[in-house]
Amino acid sequence: MPGPSRLIDFLCSVVSRDLSMGGVRADALRSVYDAAARKREVFARRHGFDPPSILFLSATTRCPSACIQCSAAGFAPDVDLAPELIDRVLGEVRDLGTFYVALTGGEPLLHPGFAEIVDRHRDFIFLLFTSGRPLDLGVADFLADRPHVMPFVSIEGQEAQTDRVRGPGAFVTAAAAMERLRERAMLFGFCATATREALPDLESEEFYTDMHRRGCQAGILLDYLPVGRDPNPARCLRFEERKRLADRLDAVRRDLGLFLAYVPLDESHDGAGRCHSASDLLHVTAEGYVEPCPFLRFAANNVRDTSIEQALLSRFFSEMRNRAGVPNRASSIPCYHLQRSRLLAETAKETGAASTVRSAE
Ligand code: SF4
Repeated sequence: MPGPSRLIDFLCSVVSRDLSMGGVRADALRSVYDAAARKREVFARRHGFDPPSILFLSATTRCPSACIQCSAAGFAPDVDLAPELIDRVLGEVRDLGTFYVALTGGEPLLHPGFAEIVDRHRDFIFLLFTSGRPLDLGVADFLADRPHVMPFVSIEGQEAQTDRVRGPGAFVTAAAAMERLRERAMLFGFCATATREALPDLESEEFYTDMHRRGCQAGILLDYLPVGRDPNPARCLRFEERKRLADRLDAVRRDLGLFLAYVPLDESHDGAGRCHSASDLLHVTAEGYVEPCPFLRFAANNVRDTSIEQALLSRFFSEMRNRAGVPNRASSIPCYHLQRSRLLAETAKETGAASTVRSAE
């Protein structure tokens, strides 16, 4: 199931491996995927760009954690996107050929309609990014019966680094959640933010051996981007450090058989990290704003009064696609648009988009 980027190929590989483990029948999944691919072809022919392969949906800003580098900080607290709006958005992206939905947040498990939403939309693969805090025995039992929901438990490295970033006890909580998933033979992974402080852990063989031993079969490493709480470019990896980390991940893939993705480098096929925002991916916030990417805090449309297709065809998204490219690899900030933050703000202003961050921290 080849996709438009290494990230999507990674997800397809993970999901394909799940076919024999999680109870999703290969032929059923294949037919859903093929139907999505046909819709995507039709859309791309009609509009000249790819519709989203993956929707990032931050259905709630509720969160029990207060991470020192939270990328979602700045949104109004304790906001939930209404279930009927979520249903409509999922119906719309399904019609466009979207197959993956990344549930981000906030803590997605704290959305009051979480269970009903994933049950009503069993033809998506949901990637559930969770701190593990609400993942008790009942939630683990629920997830074990839903192989179309794949948890990624957030961790920042080993115990000291995880607790430093996510608060005391965060590592033990995440590890306990992993244990519940492992006991139920579920396919799950970890997710970590690659900062300079976390690098010694993320470069160490012990970290991956430990994640593997705890039952993770996949992992997503996300380069730190200076957005959200206390944005600090000094936390970003330097070019050589990113390269070293990518080499380490290759070795881990080879030695442990873990499925690993490294974002944004894996947002393209050649590892150059070409920006696919406003096309292959987009983000809907808990307040309903449609952002081109989860890290770009601008929107011209809200799902309360616009369809996803209208947002994709808006002047703002169109200009974002026109102005996208390959990030300068020598820059410490690995995101194309954040490397050009003044141009990003100008593009937003010219096209009627506004900041989606309402409460200054
Ligand atoms: S805006 Fe940045 S993080 Fe988002 S898709 Fe583009 S390069 Fe990646």
